[in-house]
Amino acid sequence: MSSSLAKLRMSPDLFSFRDPKRAKEFAQLLSRLAPARPVKIVHVCGTHEITITEHGLRSLLPEGVEVLEGPGCPVCVTSTVDLDVAVKLAQEGVILCTFGDMMRVPGTELSLEEARAQGADVRMVLSAADAVEVARTNPTREVVFFAVGFETTAPGTAAVLLDSPPPNFSVLSSHKLIPPALSALMQLPDVKIDAFLAPGHVSTIIGSDAYRPVAERYHVPVVVGGFEPLDVLYALALILRQLKEGRAEVENAYKRAVRPEGNTRAQELLSQAFEVSAARWRGIGTIPGSGLRICEGLAPWDATRKFGVEGKLGEETAPGCRCADILVARAVPTDCPLFGKICTPLSPVGPCMVGSEGACSVWYRYGGRPRL
Ligand code: SF4
Repeated sequence: MSSSLAKLRMSPDLFSFRDPKRAKEFAQLLSRLAPARPVKIVHVCGTHEITITEHGLRSLLPEGVEVLEGPGCPVCVTSTVDLDVAVKLAQEGVILCTFGDMMRVPGTELSLEEARAQGADVRMVLSAADAVEVARTNPTREVVFFAVGFETTAPGTAAVLLDSPPPNFSVLSSHKLIPPALSALMQLPDVKIDAFLAPGHVSTIIGSDAYRPVAERYHVPVVVGGFEPLDVLYALALILRQLKEGRAEVENAYKRAVRPEGNTRAQELLSQAFEVSAARWRGIGTIPGSGLRICEGLAPWDATRKFGVEGKLGEETAPGCRCADILVARAVPTDCPLFGKICTPLSPVGPCMVGSEGACSVWYRYGGRPRL
């Protein structure tokens, strides 16, 4: 078994990341490694979901092995409390800048796109640095960057905050951290998770060692995976091998990009600009230590302190929408009666159909079948 895995391991000279022949070999290996019981593997990354769905990897999984997305779409888990504050600031006259995926996410009453249709100045940007540029070119206006995303995008926001941005610029931080979310999922009594496929992008920043506390505390295998089809199959093979051997360790199947210690320079930026805080995840609830609030020393650029606007928790989920279950790996998009009928990317009911990395949106784009 180990020698089969060794033969299939990634090596630049014999590994082609999309080779169908090797994918079939991996499928056979997965069948041999799969325990004789149902297995639920959760990844927490929209890009993994796209790879898995686009390349039909679920059709290669052994019977009884399922791989679900969980809270891997940053836009989907952004709390309505934060989103409503962003809408309110835009309505009160600031230039509100954010990523394109955030525009159509339903808030309690309005999305940012709807606020813009009513006259608010809401602009799409590609980065925090772009929002600073908007502030520099509009010195008489307040410009707020609504910052969403995990450890991958947060260093960009930190770098901007630490680079003396103009006084008319501020950040509404809704950045979130992945390892506390994994712990929160393990604490849900009705969601039995056997293993995590950890996100490659986030892991380049935090390092594979960052998952050790989760693996040890909950005795759950965590394997960091890359984003090519064979990257994912290789990571799944490592997971199934751990389960078969009764191990629960952190393994790195994406060594060409992820180091055990991660990107220490990016981590430094994060610790200089932010403090770890509790954060509310849409559909999940408040997770201790899972958010990044702007540190005291950078208060002049913290939109929350600058404008003193606070959001209230309202309805997070529309009637019938199963996003809250999908985000904790309790359901898949086709379990939702609205999927593809009332809820489509053109007319999204919940956040999972809006974000390009949301499970519903990805499944809809690639056919919407559970084993595809
Ligand atoms: S299909 Fe739409 S309504 Fe159903 S869970 Fe997904 S986003 Fe919510």
